[in-house]
Amino acid sequence: MISVFGSANMDLVAYVTEAPKRGETITGHRFRTVPGGKGANQAIAAARAGAEVAFLGAVGDDGFGAEMRATLTEAGVDVRGLRQVPGPSGIAHIVVDDHGGNSIIVVPGANGTVTGPCGDDLAAIAASQALLLQLELPMEAVVAAAQAAQVSGVPVILTPAPAQPLPEELLDAVTMIVPNEHEAAAITGVTGPDAALDALLERVQEAVITLGSEGALYGSRAGERLRMPAVTVQAVDTTAAGDTFVGALAVARSEGSGVEDALRFASAAAALSVQREGASTSMPTRPEIEDSLS
Ligand code: ATP
Repeated sequence: MISVFGSANMDLVAYVTEAPKRGETITGHRFRTVPGGKGANQAIAAARAGAEVAFLGAVGDDGFGAEMRATLTEAGVDVRGLRQVPGPSGIAHIVVDDHGGNSIIVVPGANGTVTGPCGDDLAAIAASQALLLQLELPMEAVVAAAQAAQVSGVPVILTPAPAQPLPEELLDAVTMIVPNEHEAAAITGVTGPDAALDALLERVQEAVITLGSEGALYGSRAGERLRMPAVTVQAVDTTAAGDTFVGALAVARSEGSGVEDALRFASAAAALSVQREGASTSMPTRPEIEDSLS
């Protein structure tokens, strides 16, 4: 089993030709709501990629919360650890342009009320092959979850997004960190993926820097280095490419795959997701990933 302790947001997605500049009002082509949030996305990605997944987090008492619970449940995710709290659910306001690029504003809502895992959450974490964390919940809660996993010997995979300073107590409990290029630069203060990877490996045992259509760069403290090229595809919407990548990577690792096979599996899953619109709706199933690899 894989546990995901993280955010659930309703994605409010506007499709435009070019993202508006400051002070500019533009007309979009289309609007839709899609259940998302980095935590929920990674949970759905991992479930669709073939794992048993428990999601630990919070939604509000609004219609968005009910819809997110239903979407996670439909994807086969165990939502017994998803609390309902008074007030609004988290939302992400997303603008997708005609080039497949995106910009995102997150308003935490219920996610901001989450404290560290307790009771059944701790039991779920302890019974997991991996714990997936991101930074859309309060930092103290994220640290507490990482430490709970560490105490039980459960590997922790951290997506450090949105980028922010990372406390040592968090990194001490993290097994693998998976930033994109921008997050890696923001965390380390170093530009260029190779130099950023070196800087990350001073703080964690394993790191993967995702590089969009350029693929991903892996390194370990043991000295291993590997570059996994992206699959060449026509990108329609890259929203949640990183979450799909991490969810699939965790599944492959928890099944015992070596680093190279796990990265190949994750790249295949992410490449399938960028060819479809949306976040949770764009994530491939296990048979789709396996077909694309054969
Ligand atoms: P997001 O924030 O949109 O979820 P990200 O910035 O966290 O994404 P990226 O580095 O853009 O993550 O992408 C993650 C992985 O997805 C890449 O390492 C790659 O394997 C795959 N990927 C992303 N964009 C493309 C693309 N245009 N074509 C093929 N694969 C892609």
